[in-house]
Amino acid sequence: MSMLEVKNLEVYYGVIQAIKGISFHVEEGEVIALIGANGAGKTTTLQTITGMLNAKAGSIQFEGTELTKIPGHKIVSMGMAHVPEGRRVFAQLSVLENLKLGAYTRKDKTEIEESLKRVYKSFPRLEERKNQLAGTLSGGEQQMLAMGRALMSKPRIVLMDEPSMGLSPIFVEEIFNIIKEISAEGTTVLLVEQNAKKALSIADRAYVLETGKIVLEGDAKDLLNDESIKKAYLGE
Ligand code: ATP
Repeated sequence: MSMLEVKNLEVYYGVIQAIKGISFHVEEGEVIALIGANGAGKTTTLQTITGMLNAKAGSIQFEGTELTKIPGHKIVSMGMAHVPEGRRVFAQLSVLENLKLGAYTRKDKTEIEESLKRVYKSFPRLEERKNQLAGTLSGGEQQMLAMGRALMSKPRIVLMDEPSMGLSPIFVEEIFNIIKEISAEGTTVLLVEQNAKKALSIADRAYVLETGKIVLEGDAKDLLNDESIKKAYLGE
C-alpha cells in the first residue's frame, strides 16, 4: 500500500475544472516532486489533499484512510503537515509562538521540547530570532519558519508548496538542503515547485502537471535529462 494514493482526482472552482482526473502515489520515505507551469493545478492539488478544497470526484488515501471524507482540521493529527504557498506565518506572533502553534495537536511537553530542539538544529537562525515578530522576518526566514512550524507536528509526510518562491539563490540552496535533511531523517516529502531543476535534483520521482492533467511521470533523474522537460521547464 502506498503512503499516499491519489486516484482520478477532479477539483472545480465553480464551473471551472482545475484538476481533470489525476492519479499519483507517494511511497513512504520518498521525495516526490509535482512540477508544472503557473496555473497547472499544483497548489489546488495540495489544498485538496489537506482538505482546504473539496474534491468533486476521485479518492485520496493516506495510510489507507480516505481523506476526502475527513474534515481538514483533523488531517494534521493524522501525521500530515502542509507548508502553504506564501508561508502564511502569524505575523503578530513571535517565532517561538509560531513554532509552538505547529505542535497544537500534541500533548507531551517533553516531546514537543525535543521537536523544538530538532527544528532549531535545522534552522539555527530561528533560534537566534525566537523572540522576533514573525512578520519582521525576511522572506527566506519566513519560509524556514513555515517549514519549522510544520515539522513541530512531527509529521510522517510533509506537503510543501513552492518553498523556493521569491527567495534569493543562497536561500533556495539552503531550503533545498534542509528538505534533503528532513527526508534523510525519515519524513516523506511531497514537493510542489516551479523551480523544476531544483525539485528534480532532490526528488526520487516526479509528476509533470499541465492544465490539470499529469502529462509525464518518472524517475527524477530521467526527467532531468528528458528533452521535452529541458525545453519546457529547465530553460535549456
Ligand atoms: P502557481 O504555480 O501559479 O501557483 P498552480 O500550478 O499552483 O500555479 P493553481 O493555483 O492550483 O495552479 O491553479 C490551477 C487553476 O485553477 C488556475 O487556472 C487558476 O486560475 C485556477 N484557480 C485557482 N484558485 C482559484 C480560485 N480561488 N477561483 C477560481 N479559480 C482558481
